[in-house]
Amino acid sequence: RKTGYGRVQVFNHRENFTDLDEIDLTRELGEALEHDQLELYYQPKCQLDNGKLAGVEALIRWNHPQRGLLTPNLFIPLAERFGLINRLGYWVIEQACHQLQQWRNTAFSDISIAINMSVQQLMDPHVIHFLKSCLERYRINRGLEIELTESVILSQERSGLNLLEQISAMGILLNIDDFGTGYSNFSYLRKMPVRFLKIDRSFVTDIEHNKDDQMIVRSILAIGHGLGMQVIAEGVENTGQRDWLRHQQCDLYQGYLLSRPQPLGELESWLSKQF
Ligand code: C2E
Ligand code: MG
Ligand code: MG
Ligand code: MG
Repeated sequence: RKTGYGRVQVFNHRENFTDLDEIDLTRELGEALEHDQLELYYQPKCQLDNGKLAGVEALIRWNHPQRGLLTPNLFIPLAERFGLINRLGYWVIEQACHQLQQWRNTAFSDISIAINMSVQQLMDPHVIHFLKSCLERYRINRGLEIELTESVILSQERSGLNLLEQISAMGILLNIDDFGTGYSNFSYLRKMPVRFLKIDRSFVTDIEHNKDDQMIVRSILAIGHGLGMQVIAEGVENTGQRDWLRHQQCDLYQGYLLSRPQPLGELESWLSKQF
């Protein structure tokens, strides 16, 4: 378990940047936070049985003045390694709450926003207060969701579920992201106030043809449903995958088939056309 937990934090991203690049980028990320270069893109998720919209996931992007649009895999690991992740995370929380407030009293008032948080962010002793103050400032009592990976189960096992229960008590729904790739402790999963399990994309890609993946996904559905959770499939790119998942009673899906992550304006016009 120790190695499993550690592995999450020393993610290797060197394929993309040299060490010098990383130093530059980390310094620039601090500036990006101050100069409004970060942006949330939104990817919708829908119900498989009736196509109804079930909310959107916020995925961070960095509009870098020289390097162009950067995706999170290029800078989230740096932010985690060099102590910027909490500031970045506060920005995301604030932004999502602001958006929920903007949508109030509009056609989009029922849409929930799921934000991603890493374990490190959850370890921050102030994050609970920050969440609370954001919900109060923007007068939000529903519609915010948090996506956490399975590694959080291990961290909670140590600290006793308390944090997740506090978050859940604020009306924030919890999702376990990338389910099936981590080290789940099922007895803790059972005790956690989790509403959604998200099946990792790697099991979905070849779902129509790969018997092992089919077995894994059926098992995840059985566990999720057995524990009273809804199951979301991520990375659905074609109708064959979607139909297989629907046939197996998977609840929700997300992926390029439905929509790519989009900037706010594009999301809103997409939503207006679809729903
Ligand atoms: P994730 O939360 O598992 O998000 C799903 C990723 O898969 C996203 O990549 C999304 O763009 C991509 N994706 C969605 N549908 C498809 C599909 O049909 N096919 C393929 N090939 N890919 C698809 P993205 O936006 O690059 O984000 C990567 C990861 O970065 C996220 O994985 C999440 O763990 C992390 N992340 C994103 N935003 C934040 C944030 O605000 N804070 C933190 N801590 N992490 C974030
Ligand atoms: Mg996610
Ligand atoms: Mg995921
Ligand atoms: Mg993923």
